[in-house]
Amino acid sequence: MLTSSSRQPENACLRQVIDAGDYYLGAVKAGQTLRILDLEGNQAADTLFYSAADPAEHYSATDTIREQGNLYLTTGSVLRSNENNPMLEIVADTCGRHDTIGGACATESNTVRYDLEKRCMHACRDSWMLAIAEHPEFGIGKRDISHNINFFMNVPVTVSGGLTFEDGISAPGKYVELTAKMDVLVLISNCPQLNNPCNGYNPTPVEILVWDN
Ligand SMILES: [Zn+2]
Repeated sequence: MLTSSSRQPENACLRQVIDAGDYYLGAVKAGQTLRILDLEGNQAADTLFYSAADPAEHYSATDTIREQGNLYLTTGSVLRSNENNPMLEIVADTCGRHDTIGGACATESNTVRYDLEKRCMHACRDSWMLAIAEHPEFGIGKRDISHNINFFMNVPVTVSGGLTFEDGISAPGKYVELTAKMDVLVLISNCPQLNNPCNGYNPTPVEILVWDN
C-alpha cells in the first residue's frame, strides 16, 4: 500500500548516503524510525535486522510471511524475528512492494544463475561479511547471516510458484520507512549486482535517515 510520510529530512538525527556497492551497519533504537531512500531509482537494498541485545535473534522471512499471510512487504507489514517477536513495522512506503524471498546475491549464486566467470564479481554477501569483519563490536558472526529483505526489489511469484527478477518498480526519491519495536541493528548491502535488473544493471547510492520519533 502506498503511504507517504510527514517526517522532514531536516529533523532527522542521522543522515548517511550508502554508496553503490557499499554497506551500512548501525543501531536503531526502539521507537526510532528508519527511512531507506532510493536516491536515483531501481536500486536494491539487501537488508538484515538483528536484536541489538542478542544478534542470534534476527529477522525471519518465514515468521513474517506466516503471520501477515502475504509474500510481499509494504505499509503495515510487521517484521518478525526467528523468535516471532515484532522487530520493526513498515509505517510508510512510496514504492509499494519489497521482496523477502529472493535472497541476496552471492558469488555462488552468481555462478549458478549467470556464468562461472561471474564468481569474482562483488556480491551482497561479500559486503555483509566485510561489514561484520570490520565491526566486531556488534557481535554478529558469519552464522548470523540469514534471511534478508530486498527493499525496492521486484521479485514476483509466478502462478506456477516460480520466482522472476523483474524490472524495478522503484524510482528516484521513493522510500520505505520502518519504526523499530525493539533495539535493532540494521545491516544493509547496497546491492552491487550487474547481472539482473534488480538495480537496473547500474548500482546507485541510497540514503538512510533516522528520526527519534
Ligand atoms: Zn545483491
